[in-house]
Amino acid sequence: MVILNPQFIIIHHSVTDGSYQTGLNIIKRQEQNFGKNSVTNSYHFMLTIEGHIISWKPENLMIGHCGVDGYSYSNEPCNANSLGICFLGNFEKENVPEIQFRAGLMLIKGLVKKYNIKDIVGHRDVINTECPGQNLYKRIPEIKKEVFKMPLEKWEEEVIKNAFNKGWIKDLDIHLSKAKESFTRAEVLAVLMNYNNSNDKVMIKKIVKEILLEILKEIGE
Ligand SMILES: [Zn+2]
Repeated sequence: MVILNPQFIIIHHSVTDGSYQTGLNIIKRQEQNFGKNSVTNSYHFMLTIEGHIISWKPENLMIGHCGVDGYSYSNEPCNANSLGICFLGNFEKENVPEIQFRAGLMLIKGLVKKYNIKDIVGHRDVINTECPGQNLYKRIPEIKKEVFKMPLEKWEEEVIKNAFNKGWIKDLDIHLSKAKESFTRAEVLAVLMNYNNSNDKVMIKKIVKEILLEILKEIGE
């Protein structure tokens, strides 16, 4: 069966070691147990701790990876409307190696763009399971933040240009090409606190307040 329109990415872990060879062994074992064309217990992609991306099943093929079949037009993630990506390793115990995380991020970024993916979830969001392990699960917000970056709004562009004219930031193009999440808090605060366009003052005050409250919360005040 074909997925016409994947809307979700579901993240898994393998509860094995994370090597490339293990990835190949998983494919071999699955094919021995269920047959070469079986879609049972498989993933569209696997990511190794060496940073390899193993492309296993075609992206447009509905496979059994999350335990819920559902419908392609459902608003809940299920096999029929999602791509399954497995990070090889046991992330209930281990931390995700940075090279593996970056490879995953690159892969997911491309898929989100290609299919207009609307959400990225952990397997545990779909059914009662530990998968993808606490240490990978807790990094999903980071993945989402990175791949769903919003383009700059007009007022943000003006803030950046203003800051550039005043010499607070050095490279205009770099800042304009980055989404807002790419700025450090210090940069944002420095720009916002010195920005004097009265039309935007209310919004700016609100943002500065939010950022300050967030920082205070983090340092435990
Ligand atoms: Zn899983």
